[in-house]
Amino acid sequence: MKRFTPLLPLLVTGLACELSAAQLTTIESFQATAARTNRVLGVADFERTADALLESITDAIAKGNSALDQIGSQNLDHVTFESTVVALENLRAESSLVANRAALIAETSPDSLMRAAAESARKKLAEWNVGLDYREDVFKAIKAFASKQPKLSGEDARLLTATLRDFRRAGMELAPLEREQIKQLRSELSRLAAKFESNLLAAKAPVVFTKAQLDGVPEDFLSSPGIKMDNDRYQVMADVIWQFNVVEDCARSGATRQRLYVAHDSLAKATNVPLINQMLMLRNQIALKLGYKSWADYQAEVRMAKTATNAQAYIDKLVAGIQPEFEAELRELQKMKAADTGNPNAQINIWDWRYYTTQLNKQKFALDKEALRNFFSFQQTLDGMFSIFGRAFGLRFNEIEPPHKWADDLRLYVVSNADTRAPIGLLYLDLFPREGKTGRGGEFEIVNGRRLSDGKYQAPVAAVVLNVPPPNGDRPSLLSHADAEVLFHELGHALHCVLTRANYSRFAGTDVPVDFVEAPSQMLQNWIWDKRVLDTFAADYRDRTKKIPADIIKKMNDARFAIAGIFYRRQFAFAAADLALHGQHPPGEPYDCTAISNQIFERTFLPIDPETSFISSFLGLNGYDAGYYGYAWADAIAADMATIFEKAKDGYLDEQAGTKLRREIYEPGDSRDINLSIEKFLGRKQSIQPFLKKIGIEPQDTKKALTGRSQETR
Ligand SMILES: [Zn+2]
Repeated sequence: MKRFTPLLPLLVTGLACELSAAQLTTIESFQATAARTNRVLGVADFERTADALLESITDAIAKGNSALDQIGSQNLDHVTFESTVVALENLRAESSLVANRAALIAETSPDSLMRAAAESARKKLAEWNVGLDYREDVFKAIKAFASKQPKLSGEDARLLTATLRDFRRAGMELAPLEREQIKQLRSELSRLAAKFESNLLAAKAPVVFTKAQLDGVPEDFLSSPGIKMDNDRYQVMADVIWQFNVVEDCARSGATRQRLYVAHDSLAKATNVPLINQMLMLRNQIALKLGYKSWADYQAEVRMAKTATNAQAYIDKLVAGIQPEFEAELRELQKMKAADTGNPNAQINIWDWRYYTTQLNKQKFALDKEALRNFFSFQQTLDGMFSIFGRAFGLRFNEIEPPHKWADDLRLYVVSNADTRAPIGLLYLDLFPREGKTGRGGEFEIVNGRRLSDGKYQAPVAAVVLNVPPPNGDRPSLLSHADAEVLFHELGHALHCVLTRANYSRFAGTDVPVDFVEAPSQMLQNWIWDKRVLDTFAADYRDRTKKIPADIIKKMNDARFAIAGIFYRRQFAFAAADLALHGQHPPGEPYDCTAISNQIFERTFLPIDPETSFISSFLGLNGYDAGYYGYAWADAIAADMATIFEKAKDGYLDEQAGTKLRREIYEPGDSRDINLSIEKFLGRKQSIQPFLKKIGIEPQDTKKALTGRSQETR
């Protein structure tokens, strides 16, 4: 059994897999302790075959339907909170368990049949979920309870409000004919959304170059499997993001970068452009029928921004505020391009900024990112991270043997309170790449925390799924600094899930407004840039006395913000395009998504090639629609919250600040107003100043450009 003692010298273990299964304890020993604190600690019961998975779905739907029948058939004179609102919430929570398992299996199972079964299971359940909003009998029962004007408080009151709001947003307050129309539009929209995703998955964009055309691109890359063809031909896939990035970062030829860029930003153009136009039309129709001015307004209602105008005003002000920084950085890149091409008037196009930024980093900061990997061996980073989070949040992480392993290198941890040793929840780590596993990583909620009907608390279960480089022979897995940063970020989400104390699943963990959800994790990324934090664990795996030199950490931090203006203007351009597409639009009038988004992108960011249509492969359009601004929104909150640690006695390692984060942000989740939680954590009103300072917007610019965000939008 491995123990993580906060900030004692780390047990130096070196290689992954140092612990053999025989040494690990099992979950049973923790379950008894959990039971004593009224907590149900159980691993998610993962299905092992495709048949079992389909059976689970059928079962979940049947159980759900019978629970719905029970709610709908009760005597309306005797309805109670439990028999209506809570019963509906419980059945949603139950059915989401199998959906959550299916989501994880679809992305991680090594068995293609399992993955296919999981995909179809998810679709079935999604369809069933839409139907759930249109159960007239259930709606009547809920309304009957609401009409008694019950005296509810706190989380219960929030649950009733949210439930009524769901029905209203589904169109249940409208006349039957209109309601039916909305239901149809929604199911058509979800069909198109699925098509959008599958078109994107199917879109491949090979571009063939000669070696001369790829001058500047590392030899390692050119000799990678699949790249080198024959007779001086090299195939680069514009749709494979790491290949795209290497060539855009390194290729000296502007023509090469442009060709690859055009291929990348034309992905799924033919198939997805007409589809997006249709989706926008449907979204607009739904929003207008429901009485909103736009889809962006419909979406914003349940987010911190509350209205599209607030989101738009926020982005507009940031775009203006960062103008001087953006221009100054562009001038620097422009000078480099002018010297490079001999053309004093050379302009920085959208396919140039990555290349000249790479050059800038090399010249100005002389950073060797590859050499940094030696300081981030996998096990050391993991131990260090658990130790830091253990200390900050008062937790212990004990590795146990997973009862079911879908991959050999899967790990499972019990997260407990450090002082009482009482288990809180479980954490799976599936961190190495393998055939069939998703390329995109992230945090998955498998079991949401909630109060069960017998009064016990369901312990949450989360998983972090990533693809870090595997060990190579005698060499352990060595993470890049960016890999380590992602690990901190995703573990932040997992802790948000595990530490929840919400009574209802829909308010638990990361089920908070989407323009807030990234904030705590974006804040945790600061840890990995801080010397004091890094010194607790980052050391050369070949000689652990060697820490990262102070001047290197400084250079890393300087480079981090060297193109903040360009980085953020690009983010704001995506946000502005997304808001414009989902903004007010005359009903029935056709959309031209390419024209709308290209124009905004060019105006806000850099000159583009008119042949392209980046929007056709813009993943944010589906699921995060009218919500891309949320990244920038959450950034401001993250920077504001970070100040509490920055001012604390022990900086990012401060236990008091960590405990506050746990108590005021992670534990309540969405069970109370998120603004209140943030203010309780800060001990003051929110401020956008720390974010502006971080991205280099001076206070005097701020006064002009950014007055009053807090009054307007918070
Ligand atoms: Zn995230």
